[in-house]
Amino acid sequence: MIKTLKVRIYPDEEQRILIEKHFGSTRFVWNYFLEKRTKEYHNNGKALSKFDALKGLTALKKQYVWLTEINSQSLQQSLMKLDTAFRAFFKHNAQYPKFKSRKGNQYFIVPQHFSFSKSEIRLPKFKREIKFKDKSPIPKDVKQIVIIRDVHRYYASILYERDEEMPKGDGIIGIDMGIKSFLTTSDGVQVEPLNVYRKFEKKLKREHRRLSRRKKGSNNRRKQMVKLQKLYQRIRDARTDFNHKVSTAIAKHYDTVVAEDLNIQGMAQNHNLAKGIADQRWYQFKQMLRHKMEWRNANLIEIGRYEQSSKICSRCGNIKKDLKLSDGTYHCDLCGLEMDRDLNAAINIRNIGLIKIGKGIPEFTPVEIPLAGYLSHEGISYVSLKQEPPML
Ligand SMILES: [Zn+2]
Repeated sequence: MIKTLKVRIYPDEEQRILIEKHFGSTRFVWNYFLEKRTKEYHNNGKALSKFDALKGLTALKKQYVWLTEINSQSLQQSLMKLDTAFRAFFKHNAQYPKFKSRKGNQYFIVPQHFSFSKSEIRLPKFKREIKFKDKSPIPKDVKQIVIIRDVHRYYASILYERDEEMPKGDGIIGIDMGIKSFLTTSDGVQVEPLNVYRKFEKKLKREHRRLSRRKKGSNNRRKQMVKLQKLYQRIRDARTDFNHKVSTAIAKHYDTVVAEDLNIQGMAQNHNLAKGIADQRWYQFKQMLRHKMEWRNANLIEIGRYEQSSKICSRCGNIKKDLKLSDGTYHCDLCGLEMDRDLNAAINIRNIGLIKIGKGIPEFTPVEIPLAGYLSHEGISYVSLKQEPPML
């Protein structure tokens, strides 16, 4: 199974310039051969093959000597990608390939001849290693690296292979994702959401107002644009930091985590804005959690949303059909259970996960909530919910 790990890299000025040259050159090669293939197609009705293009690349390097400064495998990858884009187009799976712009996402691929030390990446054509920072160890079986720029930051996206392992089922927890609360665990820890937009709301409004006053195409407008982008990046950073802390807390304390599947298609079509935003936050969080769990050889089990985890009574199994979204408390008419709605759902999620991996639902044992101490140490707000034993 192929996985990715994204780490921020810190190139020095010389390295930064060479990275930018790689972006520019791979883009140039893409655009050059896109034009060539398009002309060829219109004039002769035949498609230029990948092989022709690769031969053409050698000739191109003689014409544009600056291309020799660039890792030739990265240039070849650009051609491979273009070829894939064409093949997808001919199979009617995609639109006709587009020209790449310097305004779009900037990246280049390094398929081979890279290496890692604890805090540095070595890439072909770069004289010195590039520094990086990440808490996770670098995987062993790395397939390729993609260098990316996001606004003014650089990242390495590391693709690696990993075997799947069977869940053990010890130290299991269910988590329910929420809107009012960020998440609730079956142990009764409710993590409060990080309302980062609220914190930056005034500033954002002010900077947006400033932008609208700047003349279109002016230097000041461009500067204001960058200022806004940086502000959004700070918001993303705060969110990422929060997600890191919470996912580390959970990955550290449990061998198996059960969570609801995220419906990506549903996310795009979701008309409920609050829910949509909550889903997007969850997406990043779950990627981090998955990665961290895997590193510990622990498991993240996903269950379908159709499982109705919020409607089942976690004590007697009764299904409450008339449970409304506004009900904060789950009240069971059959056994009289009164419980926080999200906690009830989290316990059900854990139980569904247990059944899924072929384990029975364990006997109730009072939990001491190891997670709570860790969260408070990291400055994350949470509430401890009262737990009731299930009916046996
Ligand atoms: Zn009940």
